[in-house]
Amino acid sequence: MARDYYGILGVDRGASDNEIKKAYRKLARKYHPDVNDTEEAAEKFSEISIAQEVLLDPEKRRIVDAGGDPMAQGGGAGGYGGGGGFGDIFEAFFGGGGAAQGPRSRVQPGSDALLRTRISLEDAYLGVKKPVTIDTAILCDACEGTGSKTKSKPVTCTNCNGSGHIQQVQRSFLGNVMTTAPCPVCDGTGEVIPDPCAKCGGDGRVAARRDLTVNIPAGIAEGMRIRMAGQGEVGHGGGPAGDLYVEVSIDRHPVFTREGDDLHFSVTVPMVDAALGVDFDVDALDGEPITVTIPQGTQPNAAINVAGQGMPRLRGEGNGNLYAHVDVTVPTELSDKQKDLLEKLREHGGETTGVRREDAHGEGLFGRIRNRFRR
Ligand SMILES: [Zn+2]
Ligand SMILES: [Zn+2]
Repeated sequence: MARDYYGILGVDRGASDNEIKKAYRKLARKYHPDVNDTEEAAEKFSEISIAQEVLLDPEKRRIVDAGGDPMAQGGGAGGYGGGGGFGDIFEAFFGGGGAAQGPRSRVQPGSDALLRTRISLEDAYLGVKKPVTIDTAILCDACEGTGSKTKSKPVTCTNCNGSGHIQQVQRSFLGNVMTTAPCPVCDGTGEVIPDPCAKCGGDGRVAARRDLTVNIPAGIAEGMRIRMAGQGEVGHGGGPAGDLYVEVSIDRHPVFTREGDDLHFSVTVPMVDAALGVDFDVDALDGEPITVTIPQGTQPNAAINVAGQGMPRLRGEGNGNLYAHVDVTVPTELSDKQKDLLEKLREHGGETTGVRREDAHGEGLFGRIRNRFRR
């Protein structure tokens, strides 16, 4: 059975935080190891300290009020599990002579939940409030999570006398051994609800669909999870809800590719513009045009860095960079007039076609090709 934390402090169930603290201080003056160094006092002091901790923690107190024990093994805020596993195997072979396992808490913390949602790169840039829908379990309103029609406390299971376990003698290759199994009547909790709530069948929770809005911050990256505390499932017996995690995926963008906090895009630049330099506008992810300057004499595959125009940094100040990757285009069909002008350029250009020689540190033709594809 659950410990009576109210009784330990000598306060009633409706006690306020202040009354709990006051009662604790009064008892602490009596049992504090500085005042009283007997073993009983030490035990008592630890007991009242735990009771205070439990009753001042709203989640833990709710478990207590629902008839559970948040500090019991395998229950409450301490973690999942208990029962099963090694203990059972051990007891099956060695006759259950060791320390008996206590009943598991009837009130269990709820599971965490995971949802996935897709957003555009624009939304990742600006941040977005995204509506999501989740099928979950919420506290039963008819019984307020107690599982009882009259909100009464659970009673000790008569099948296992509150131990949560039943013992059976089984024949095995080691001879007769005593095995321990969870009590089927109380599901191993040692407690039963005498008048189960009609709405939740005594579970303290009911299935529900919930609409939520996730606040996705600007700069969020692919695969990141946003935690919404207490928005997961309410636990068995009306135990505290788990957390909801929303995993964010970002759609591909037709113009921009993201790399960390940097953005990259390609721009085709006619050879004349590359030679003479040119300004052009690109619409940023917030819809505002950004002017990019291609400087005079820009080479094919050059990357122009527009500093501070990338994605907002999720942690820290400012933005990453924006890189325009230059794809220089050469005209394939020329009018007579254009041909004439280019012939004149050739006469005046002073550039000649020639075989390239690498110096000792050069990367060579294949290195250049490789780098070209890497961009
Ligand atoms: Zn109910
Ligand atoms: Zn039982």
